[in-house]
Amino acid sequence: MPLSKSEIERYQRQLLVDGWDQEKLKNSRVLVVGAGGLGGISATYLASAGVGHLRVCDSDTVELSNLNRQIVFTTEDIGRPKAYLLAKRLSAQNPEIEVETVSDRLTGANARELTAGFDLVVDGLDNHSDRLKLNRASVDFQIPYIYGAINEWLGQLSFFNPPKTACLACLMPGELPNQKPTPVFGALPGVIGSLQATLALRYLMTGENPLANTLLIFRADAMAFETVTYEKRPGCEVCGKTVRSGR
Ligand SMILES: [Zn+2]
Repeated sequence: MPLSKSEIERYQRQLLVDGWDQEKLKNSRVLVVGAGGLGGISATYLASAGVGHLRVCDSDTVELSNLNRQIVFTTEDIGRPKAYLLAKRLSAQNPEIEVETVSDRLTGANARELTAGFDLVVDGLDNHSDRLKLNRASVDFQIPYIYGAINEWLGQLSFFNPPKTACLACLMPGELPNQKPTPVFGALPGVIGSLQATLALRYLMTGENPLANTLLIFRADAMAFETVTYEKRPGCEVCGKTVRSGR
């Protein structure tokens, strides 16, 4: 469907960006798993840019200790469900798009149902164990996966899209020690979540993946970006096997 008059006005400034394809964004479906520091930021920019359908998945409620970094929530939101609050905010920000919520954690049992029909999944999770589950679902159902993670002064970003690229389990196959609670200040997930949204928009409009088999590392203490390349692991227990029947 062509853009309406109000959409043309809303998106006026980005329509001026070289290579921008608003109709492609309008016809895109993105799943954001996690509505915290990373997911709240990436979902906000995806919504404001006009990604036509967003699904926000999070089973948590807002806590006071979230508010140093999860800036889409307010003190009044404490005790209320994050997915619902974020979706309400995104819909208010951009009523032109569809936003839906899922208040479940991603598990092996619900992965197919959660991911079916989506063009892309954006990782807003806060632990490696859940990321490995999301990775398995994205490989099984062939949905490109934008990875983001933060810890103290370090941010990381990559884009997995097997069989064209390696997957998360090729890069970091096992469980990682989980420092609880993770040391984090708000600006860093702001940076990484914004980069995830930028990468997502670029991919949805052009199909390009500049972070194929590449880990982008942001060292916030040194204000330095660096990249590390990695390879698909032939024996990877997730993407090394024949892809199971997906959608
Ligand atoms: Zn793999």
